[in-house]
Amino acid sequence: MKAIVYEKAKTFTVKDVPKPVLSEGEVLIKVAYSGVCGSDLFIYSGTHPRAKAPLIAGHEYSGTIVEIHPSVGDAFKPGMKATVRPTYACGVCYPCREGVPHVCKSLKLYGIDCDGGFAEYSAVRAENVFALPDDIDLAAAALIEPVAVAVHAVRRSELKAGDVVAVFGAGPIGCLVGLMAKKAGAREVYVSDMNPYRLDAASSLGLWPVNAKDTDFAAVLAEATDGRMADVTFDCAGAGQTIMAASATTRVRGQVMVVASFHAPYPIDLLAVNFKEQQFTGTRVYTDADFKIACGMVAEDPALFKKIATVYPYADGPAVIDGIPKGADVIKALFSFE
Ligand SMILES: [Zn+2]
Ligand SMILES: [Zn+2]
Repeated sequence: MKAIVYEKAKTFTVKDVPKPVLSEGEVLIKVAYSGVCGSDLFIYSGTHPRAKAPLIAGHEYSGTIVEIHPSVGDAFKPGMKATVRPTYACGVCYPCREGVPHVCKSLKLYGIDCDGGFAEYSAVRAENVFALPDDIDLAAAALIEPVAVAVHAVRRSELKAGDVVAVFGAGPIGCLVGLMAKKAGAREVYVSDMNPYRLDAASSLGLWPVNAKDTDFAAVLAEATDGRMADVTFDCAGAGQTIMAASATTRVRGQVMVVASFHAPYPIDLLAVNFKEQQFTGTRVYTDADFKIACGMVAEDPALFKKIATVYPYADGPAVIDGIPKGADVIKALFSFE
């Protein structure tokens, strides 16, 4: 089968690799679409601490079930549409024992810790497979994983109907968090970024775009709220300046949600945390409940979610992955294996 293989730093190659053979408990998925995530770009950089070459990356994918190991039982049938929850937990650490395996101390993912979805076929444990309606749009279904990240971030926040929300970063997660905040009843969602293409996408989703290049985000929020500021700020940018600025966009006793992955320690405004009694809350991937909600939302309105997606043939994969960090006009790149 064809796969986009991470071979070494700065090198993804389209090549023929053996089709996976099912082990006990596994299901074989014929991949239809596979999305590119920030962590795939991190793998590409060669500095990801867990991803070891050679690796089939990709952890956001959809497809059709084509084979089921006899040990799996009868929950799945060949021909069913499906997506993959790529996370798998150790099952023995205390978060696992306390029923929150998504914050497992050694959480692993398909496409990072073992082969994932940048290939024509992927063998996945049955508990990671989520069956989808027969008529689902499989390109939209490849967005379920990042939608689940956004669902989790919003459900973990204290957002209430009528709230004003600030989002740093109009990348895929920032756009989806903004959209989920709207669906959760936010009155207005303001999204700041410096990339005009991304700001246009945010605006097409009904969010207020703010160009951070020439506009003071805190001033926009002050104006919109009579000086009260956002009830909840989501940092989906992951830059040192944004997490520092997040206190200023957030009201007294408001909440800052740390959604982006920070790969280094950054200062936050601890005096604001103190004097304004603000809270900073971490959020990591999703629970099964979030994932199910995301499946339902995407099945219900695929066109809405596809506004952030651009589809490329898988053969273009290496060039697309190389282009994104250089500022290509794309929010969520999807590779088609159909
Ligand atoms: Zn991801
Ligand atoms: Zn664990």
